[in-house]
Amino acid sequence: LSSSLRETFRKITGSSYIDKNVIKEMIRDIQRALLKADVNVKLTLDLSRKIEERSENEKPPAGMTPQDYILKIVYEELLAILGKSSNLKIQPQTIMLVGLYGQGKTTTAGKLARFFIKKGLSTGFVACDVHRPAAFEQLRTLSEQTGAKFFGIKGEKNPVKIFNQSIEELKDIQVKIVDTSGRDSLDSDLLDEITKLKKAVNPDEVLLVIDATVGQQAGPQAKSLMDATGLTGVIITKMDGTGKAGGALSAVAQTGVPVYMIGTGEHLEDFEIFSPKKFLGRLLGMGDPEALLDVAQEADISDEKAEETMTKIMSGKFNLMDMYDIWEKFAKPSLMKRLFDSIPVGKMPKGASNMLDLDAAQEKIGKYTVILDSMTYKELENPEIINAKVIRRVSRGSGTQEQDVRNLLKEFRAMKENAKMMKGNRALKKMMRGQM
Ligand code: GDP
Ligand code: MG
Repeated sequence: LSSSLRETFRKITGSSYIDKNVIKEMIRDIQRALLKADVNVKLTLDLSRKIEERSENEKPPAGMTPQDYILKIVYEELLAILGKSSNLKIQPQTIMLVGLYGQGKTTTAGKLARFFIKKGLSTGFVACDVHRPAAFEQLRTLSEQTGAKFFGIKGEKNPVKIFNQSIEELKDIQVKIVDTSGRDSLDSDLLDEITKLKKAVNPDEVLLVIDATVGQQAGPQAKSLMDATGLTGVIITKMDGTGKAGGALSAVAQTGVPVYMIGTGEHLEDFEIFSPKKFLGRLLGMGDPEALLDVAQEADISDEKAEETMTKIMSGKFNLMDMYDIWEKFAKPSLMKRLFDSIPVGKMPKGASNMLDLDAAQEKIGKYTVILDSMTYKELENPEIINAKVIRRVSRGSGTQEQDVRNLLKEFRAMKENAKMMKGNRALKKMMRGQM
């Protein structure tokens, strides 16, 4: 999965033009990846339709190639499903946890308690899982581990009764967490029980606890619970496992509520605030979705800034400081590639072909940035004063080889040469503004 999708992205960034067939092929790859990650079929089709429609109808903004723009669309559409990110409020409140059996509700109750207690809010549990005998003890143990107050009535079968009696007991507690029953599947009895309990509790948050390994069933389940309780948020558990959480994505799409937190293990501290970017990286099988993110960020570079930088490069007057500036702000592999692609093959500076390998490019940029960091302003502004002695100092200061520093300087000179060559190259200027 991961390699095939990554391959597609590479294909896309690698092709110098883009046609309908390329788009179609890419969309098929995306569909395959999403389905493999257990995103449900309807959502997958909706998504790919939207991506296709947008890639056909929208024009990339200035400074962006059509290829990059498609990547950006994919990312944006996925991000849109995750909704606007939102955090659990750190304030007194009542939280009810709902979800199927074994999804991690009780464990999450413990994690939430630890989370709120650390923030200085007194926290208490109400044990309203009346179906699983072990649930009572499990929650009581968690209360001992976290310092949360515990309320439960052993043997009581009516969760509404339990909650009502907890009110007096927990009246001084700021955050109340109500643990509820689950089943293997959502039957009408369970939905009925949860609906009644929700009415009695009148919670500020009703959180769906869903396991990252839940597949195609996640969507319909979430919808039933949404209808019964009016969910306000989602917590995805078992993100430490192999599940790609496509089911969870379907659930989120179905309910339109934000994902607040994720569970990343069995222990109380294995709990993180949800990051849409990380989540998408996992979903798409890209451990690190930086390539996509870079594309998304590139769109934020204003035309003006791009123009300014181009003018500087073209002027032939640019120094290491400018190079630093460019690399910091613009050294996105796709931009680098565009730049190097524009250089006639025979004139390609030695070593520059490495830049075509995006991973290598990123590594190199990282190294070069450290080297530039070790130079003085005077050196950055007047690279010609950099002699063997300076090279030695800089290599030591940056923890790199002297050869690395020399390579950087060589590339700088080549870039400067190329800049002169590019001067007056209108086709290139036009391309850099994304008009081709
Ligand atoms: P409930 O039936 O919904 O209350 O689920 P439990 O809280 O009892 O959890 C079911 C199982 O999942 C337990 O063995 C937990 O230790 C485990 N579990 C819960 N959350 C996580 C998590 O984030 N990661 C992992 N690896 N296991 C988890
Ligand atoms: Mg439980």
